[in-house]
Amino acid sequence: MIGVGDMVLLEPLSEDSFLENLRNRFDHNEIYTYIGSVVISVNPYRSLPIFTPEKVEEYRNRNFYELSPHIYALADEAYRSLRDQDKDQCILITGESGAGKTEASKLVMSYVAAVCGKGQEVNKVKEQLLQSNPVLEAFGNAKTVRNDNSSRFGKYMDIEFDFKGDPLGGVISNYLLEKSRVVKQPRGERNFHIFYQLLSGASEDTLKKLKLGRDFSKYNYLSLDSATVNGLDDAANFRTVRNAMQIVGFMEDEVQSVLELVAAVLKLGNIEFKPESRCNGFDESRVKDKNDLKEMCELLGIEQSVLERAFSYRTVEAKMEKVSTTLNVAQAQAKTRHKVMGVLDIYGFEIFEDNSFEQFIINYCNEKLQQIFIELTLREEQEEYVREGIEWTNIEYFNNAIICDLIENNQNGILAMLDEECLRPGTVTDDTFLDKLNTVCAEHQHFESRLSKNSKFLTDHSLPHSCFRIQHYAGKVLYRVEGFVDKNNDLLYRDLSQAMYKANHSLIKQLFPEGNPAKVNLKRPPTAGFQFKASVGTLMRNLQTKNPNYIRCIKPNDKKAAHIFTESLVRHQVRYLGLMENVRVRRAGYAFRQPYEPCLERYKMLCKQTWPHWRGPAREGVEVLMADLQVPAEELSYGRSKIFIRNPRTLFFLEERRRQC
Ligand code: ADP
Ligand code: MG
Repeated sequence: MIGVGDMVLLEPLSEDSFLENLRNRFDHNEIYTYIGSVVISVNPYRSLPIFTPEKVEEYRNRNFYELSPHIYALADEAYRSLRDQDKDQCILITGESGAGKTEASKLVMSYVAAVCGKGQEVNKVKEQLLQSNPVLEAFGNAKTVRNDNSSRFGKYMDIEFDFKGDPLGGVISNYLLEKSRVVKQPRGERNFHIFYQLLSGASEDTLKKLKLGRDFSKYNYLSLDSATVNGLDDAANFRTVRNAMQIVGFMEDEVQSVLELVAAVLKLGNIEFKPESRCNGFDESRVKDKNDLKEMCELLGIEQSVLERAFSYRTVEAKMEKVSTTLNVAQAQAKTRHKVMGVLDIYGFEIFEDNSFEQFIINYCNEKLQQIFIELTLREEQEEYVREGIEWTNIEYFNNAIICDLIENNQNGILAMLDEECLRPGTVTDDTFLDKLNTVCAEHQHFESRLSKNSKFLTDHSLPHSCFRIQHYAGKVLYRVEGFVDKNNDLLYRDLSQAMYKANHSLIKQLFPEGNPAKVNLKRPPTAGFQFKASVGTLMRNLQTKNPNYIRCIKPNDKKAAHIFTESLVRHQVRYLGLMENVRVRRAGYAFRQPYEPCLERYKMLCKQTWPHWRGPAREGVEVLMADLQVPAEELSYGRSKIFIRNPRTLFFLEERRRQC
């Protein structure tokens, strides 16, 4: 074992020793390290021979502590508790961009696919689950400065299983797709993969039908400075994606519709506008060169004049939403309850120099996830001790509920105030929103106790203009209010959705249901913040019903390079992921617990009195066993149904004795 496999065992425990242990293990190709049952994963940025079918076999049906740390151990544990104990599971994967979250989610899925049932029907479902990845990545991933295959959305997938533990299907929810990327990409970054894949990989015939050429430089929406990416074969990936769409269940004409839509977006990007003076003295925008417009309309079956008219209005780019896709969820036989494993792959805390609405929303989501962590892990832990009648003093931990409340409170939370401002008649700007925020939050701060939630809303004189600062659980973050009102409003002008609804193209029609004139709704659509809060709420309620498993991903350097471990960068992430807090909580309690029967079963061969059979109650058997092995009494606590072992070293000792046996 290189270094210490479980941080709970680290002596002495400090941030430095923690980092040193991670680095030491990373240098020896040990990218996984535990904190109890939490898996820390450090991105190796090269393929390691640890994801083979032999490895899958090695980890299958083994206990967590028997083998060296691996993501497969976590996947195995989660799958077995789901199958054998009927406990719904969720796997929460967090970390910053490029840390390896998406790869981790795929490893979990492929492990589960490898160990669960076999048979033609089951294999088909497995294939569909796995092939949903290339489809989602083509439309939702892009090359960014941080990651050549960066997911520009958060993903939650519920995989459903039948009573035997065979997969039935899945439901995928997407969060916060970065739509503005379609229109504009930061320097050195690309648009979504699908555009490049289509132009590189489609047949001449397909391109002709779509009225497209191969040359990226002909399209305004495709940035030129990094159109090709080392190690990314767009053409080959296009074939993978087409194939995957078919497996997932798209009909051939549906694939065609999707590609038409992609082509239409490229055409849309080429349409340019010119001002035209009108007699009332105002300028109106007019389409400059009509060829792209014409082709776009042909692709989508829209009457050119209708779209041209709708274009005279301005649209807002950034939009956030939640889309649910149902993958072949097979029919339930009779009324049996499905077992569910949820996999969440979502951006971690973002703290940039310039933080805007997007970071605010993402960080809010992370506060909520921390809440779940606190509620599920700490509370469960403490409640179990009480349940088992074990003496234990409560440990102090920071409860971030007040920060969540500061953001989401229905009356005077930041999101509510932003909504109020967006709906208020009169002149509304980002600065009027900030004024309101400062007034309301500062007032409360003045009158309420030091512990009021507003102590997390930091006002001091060092604040730059047009900014506010929040003390998140992971650190202080400065937000610039510019764009908050616009992005929250998220208005798509009705004329545009109505023009789109008129298209003679069933997919487009489906995408703009609000354009249906029969369903004109004069109420304004919900704001982006409101929608996000609602979908995060749903997600949290869903997660709360499940048994959580954590994978914390760490990016070792920002060069996307193998073998480099930049300490300052990792230290930063260890803090924002709250990992030290994690270890402390674990160490404060008992590292390991097991019901008496399986414990006796596992170790009874180590003691003459318990081998081969122990006639009395299991608890007494375990007591005899531990006394015989001279395990110090202070190491153990005997609960009502379980034995609790304080230090993992004791467990390693037992395992070692068993191996020698
Ligand atoms: P995230 O989803 O956290 O932004 P990704 O999962 O996309 O990050 O990982 C970024 C890149 O890092 C991948 O494209 C891959 O090249 C590399 N990578 C991540 N995890 C692994 C791994 N376990 N083994 C090898 N390379 C990996
Ligand atoms: Mg990702």
